[in-house]
Amino acid sequence: MPSNMSVPFLDLGAAYLELKDDLDAAYHRVMDSGWFILGKEVEAFEREFAAYCEAAHCVGVGNGLEALHLILRAYGIGPGDEVIVPANTYIATWLAVSYAGATPIPVEPDARTYNLDPALIEAAITPATRAILPVHLYGQPADMDPIKALASRYGLKVIEDAAQAHGARYHGRRVGGLGDAAGFSFYPGKNLGALGDGGAVVTNDADLAERVRVLRNYGSRVKYHNEVKGFNSRLDELQAALLRVKLPVLDAWNERRRAAAARYLDGLAGSELGLPYVPKWAEPVWHLFVVRHPQRDALQQRLQQAGIGTMIHYPIPPHLQPAYAELGYGAGAFPISEAIHREVLSLPMGPQLTAAQQGRVLGRMVSDIRPNSAA
Ligand SMILES: *Cc1c(COP(=O)(O)O)cnc(C)c1O
Repeated sequence: MPSNMSVPFLDLGAAYLELKDDLDAAYHRVMDSGWFILGKEVEAFEREFAAYCEAAHCVGVGNGLEALHLILRAYGIGPGDEVIVPANTYIATWLAVSYAGATPIPVEPDARTYNLDPALIEAAITPATRAILPVHLYGQPADMDPIKALASRYGLKVIEDAAQAHGARYHGRRVGGLGDAAGFSFYPGKNLGALGDGGAVVTNDADLAERVRVLRNYGSRVKYHNEVKGFNSRLDELQAALLRVKLPVLDAWNERRRAAAARYLDGLAGSELGLPYVPKWAEPVWHLFVVRHPQRDALQQRLQQAGIGTMIHYPIPPHLQPAYAELGYGAGAFPISEAIHREVLSLPMGPQLTAAQQGRVLGRMVSDIRPNSAA
């Protein structure tokens, strides 16, 4: 491969081309049906995705943020209530809590896994706490058993933010059915991505599933009969039909991400980069491959100059965003999260990343990063 060839961070065009015939056929099937909202495609996808997650119920909704928001609403969590969230997450996790009218209470992550540290949760529980909302960040499952033990001791709900972890396993069990309910996103760049916005609630709680079904559709079970003040947040027929093409290849595509992650881990071993850590009980799906470096910005610039696309997940933690100035947290309030945000860099990762492209990334990184022994 020529040394000036660029490596995109994620190649959604290549993903489309690989499934083009089937995706195009699904598109035409929906167009020909003349039925676009809440029909056979959504129903079929809900059955198929629940089965994939090894859970009883799935309800298709508008996006991942709405999935989490509707779960909180359906559990009656609102003003005056507190929900424990990771300090280190995408802001959508917090926004779902705010939309419900409750207050997000941040807890620091484990510095090695980037996920909620179960040992730090109990100190954040108050009489107002109603739920814990762990995120399976970067595709790696959070340590759910101690979180669930704590939740049952205090009578709290456990709501998984599984937006980055479709197919990941914890102690052999799929995410999505590990807590009381889970929110998934089908944003195009996610491991299971639609060609537009989409999301789902997955749960083994039949009552919760039914309440979310009502809430997503104007609070009505029967057209023009509104039991509660609901929302308009529905997965549409077209996105459901396209997702039904992509779901059957999800495991194979996650397997390719695993192979790519193994090549990165192998090629970068012994460098001064901080590498992802995978606990024994975790089977991550590598939504992102995140490394750490104290001079992260300079490293990103050099890779950029070499035509290698990287991203930062995320540059500013939620507690330091202007959107959450109201909570009054200053710099230094969550030092582990803040250090993570200063140092992380996501390397190119995806099912269509070729070994040649990855070789180029590795070649560039290895010549760039001093080995530990020379440091
Ligand atoms: C993508 C994402 C969401 C929100 O999903 P949308 O479909 O974009 O609304 C929520 N939480 C996390 C961790 C995410 O990565």
